[in-house]
Amino acid sequence: MPKAIEELTALIAELPGLGPRQARRIVQYLLRAQPSYKKKLIERIEALSEHIAQCTRCYRYDEMAQNKLCSLCTNENRDATTLMVVEKDVDVEGVEASGIYKGQYFVLGTLMPLTETRKTAQAPRTTLLKERATEKGLREIILAFATTPEGDYTARELKTELETAARGANITILGRGLSLGAEIEYADRETLRNALQNRRAEF
Ligand SMILES: [Zn+2]
Repeated sequence: MPKAIEELTALIAELPGLGPRQARRIVQYLLRAQPSYKKKLIERIEALSEHIAQCTRCYRYDEMAQNKLCSLCTNENRDATTLMVVEKDVDVEGVEASGIYKGQYFVLGTLMPLTETRKTAQAPRTTLLKERATEKGLREIILAFATTPEGDYTARELKTELETAARGANITILGRGLSLGAEIEYADRETLRNALQNRRAEF
């Protein structure tokens, strides 16, 4: 196999959800694709690093509004007393699309795996979240994770971690409405609204 094809195939195979077979198909497609398409693809990938950055407050990727902060973190109309912790960027998009929440966010990046020891299982941003939880004026921290064993485990672990860090803020989880195994990013508006309204501090 020519080196150019081999190297591109290996790179594409690293993408989530793709294996070597799919990667080979994509490379075959690119070989036949219009030069203008390939040029646009390269430009769009480059634009990701040029225009999109990780917000230094909520850790989601967005166009930076000011001071390395995203449009949500710099929006003064949003409720600063409520912080919703989610697993990933698309969860923020899902909740935002539902239009039912007007507070702040924190993207944890990953859930804690059940299989590892407690020390290594710490989500990488737990320390950053604990710092955020100490902020004055925060009244509630909502742990909004998927209703999976990993999501439940992460919520319980974080509750323990945050209870000492958060000064008087209530720590809650989403309540009834989300079915077992439900992912926040795929939940519809009504489901999210119910889950948010029924959130609870006992878990
Ligand atoms: Zn932000």
